[in-house]
Amino acid sequence: MSRRRPRPVEILTFPLAGLLAEGPGSQRAFRIAAVVIPLDEPLELAEPIEGVLRVSRTNRGLLVDARLQASLREVCSRCLAEIEVRLELEISEEVLPSVDLLTGLPLDTTSEPDVERLTTGHELDFGRLVRAAIALAEPIAPLCRPDCPGLCPVCGALAVAGHGHPDEAVDPRLAPLLDWQPVDAEAVTDYTPPDRPAPARRRR
Ligand SMILES: [Zn+2]
Ligand SMILES: [Zn+2]
Repeated sequence: MSRRRPRPVEILTFPLAGLLAEGPGSQRAFRIAAVVIPLDEPLELAEPIEGVLRVSRTNRGLLVDARLQASLREVCSRCLAEIEVRLELEISEEVLPSVDLLTGLPLDTTSEPDVERLTTGHELDFGRLVRAAIALAEPIAPLCRPDCPGLCPVCGALAVAGHGHPDEAVDPRLAPLLDWQPVDAEAVTDYTPPDRPAPARRRR
């Protein structure tokens, strides 16, 4: 028995009335190829989304099961280099109809307000599930590489091993700071609260 090859799709809305009309266990498979969807700011895709979406008929509705690869345009949290962060997305979600398939009448959705629903036209808004999965998978502090040394706080260059600022290499504009000396303790007037005698000064 040959398995039906997934059909490639370019938009992420899937009309599934036909699948709903079939019995539990029926399945559709779609190959997600070169799909670009708008993401919530500041997220931005670096590469189109690829992968496979399978939708199975259950006794209640549909089971959505997808394995996708996405790539986000990010900035390294240490060195600020522009990087691409690859994401492996796994989406497994029960999606129920919002209207009765036969009568077209709205179903009572109040008992399960948080469950995903098909549109009133029995379409799966898969893009919404993908956006949610991407937002969850986005790293909080992306790195260009695990051992990124970050930026030198003095010059802003990449602080690779051995990077440093010996005194002779100081920027000439900063050179006057090298002459700065701490003020001689003897030249500082002590402040003493009036109700206490001033401490005796040590003489060298
Ligand atoms: Zn980096
Ligand atoms: Zn530096």
